[in-house]
Amino acid sequence: AKSLGRNRYSFFQKRMEEQLSRRHQIEKDLETAVENNELLLYFQPVINVENENVVGFEALVRWKFKEKIVPPDEFISIAEQSEAIWSIGRWIIREAIAVLGGWNALGYADYSMSINLSSVQFKDPELVSCIETCIETFNVPAFQVEFEITETALWRDLKESRRVIGKIRELGCRIALDDFGTGFSSISHLQKFPIDTVKIDKSLMPGSFDGSKDIAIIMGLVAMSKMLGIDVVAEGVETDAHLSLCKAAGITRIQGYLYSKPLCKDTIDELYIFAARS
Ligand code: C2E
Ligand code: CA
Ligand code: CA
Ligand code: CA
Repeated sequence: AKSLGRNRYSFFQKRMEEQLSRRHQIEKDLETAVENNELLLYFQPVINVENENVVGFEALVRWKFKEKIVPPDEFISIAEQSEAIWSIGRWIIREAIAVLGGWNALGYADYSMSINLSSVQFKDPELVSCIETCIETFNVPAFQVEFEITETALWRDLKESRRVIGKIRELGCRIALDDFGTGFSSISHLQKFPIDTVKIDKSLMPGSFDGSKDIAIIMGLVAMSKMLGIDVVAEGVETDAHLSLCKAAGITRIQGYLYSKPLCKDTIDELYIFAARS
């Protein structure tokens, strides 16, 4: 039994060391991701529930490394451990606003662009000036740009969050509270922050409609948000049943596989920009 214990110990230690060195490798490779042009954005259409028109897009980052597409869950949290997220974040903002500016120039000036912000970016001294510069450079009205911030990010440093969010709103950009309904302090946040939108997390979309509790929670969150004058978006809308629920609850905008997964810019151009022109 004793030797088994030792073997186990070394097994776990080896695994941990492997994971650690993989992390360090990703960290190192990430340092040059921006300058090597390895990042790219996908865009997921945001749909108006009432008329099913596309009203905007959410920018979702990908990392093209060694011929493979690395999803954000595998590198954003690592980038957040260092200041790598600052330059990556600024690249994302610039690219997303540039794309929006391009669509505006073609005459599609009413799409919104949602950009995810990490709380670590709040500490980037150039964040706000970067946003301001991009909006000016690409000639985009600020209200077309919405920044998505998670509840947990706000909670991490309340004072800092409030300061940066205030500045972003002064520019005229909108603020959305992302992953809404997953943290337990949701309700108090709604009053404490000047936010325009809440995004109901996909984990709240019911797996089946046997239990009505999920529905009650969503109905309640929407009713409360509306009373506070906050717009509600649902993500993870995968089925017709989800869509019906969103309609019944009074949700205004939805995202999800039912309508479209995130797509690369060329595909978006083909489906929504050029197709509509011809
Ligand atoms: P998120 O902001 O909550 O984004 C929604 C995620 O759900 C996206 O995953 C999207 O592809 C996925 N999704 C969309 N529709 C559906 C659906 O109908 N069903 C299901 N099951 N999933 C759906 P993705 O692109 O892998 O991004 C994962 C997370 O990585 C994002 O969650 C966000 O927290 C982070 N992330 C992505 N892009 C960025 C970025 O540019 N900056 C930062 N800081 N974080 C990002
Ligand atoms: Ca998001
Ligand atoms: Ca989410
Ligand atoms: Ca998330």
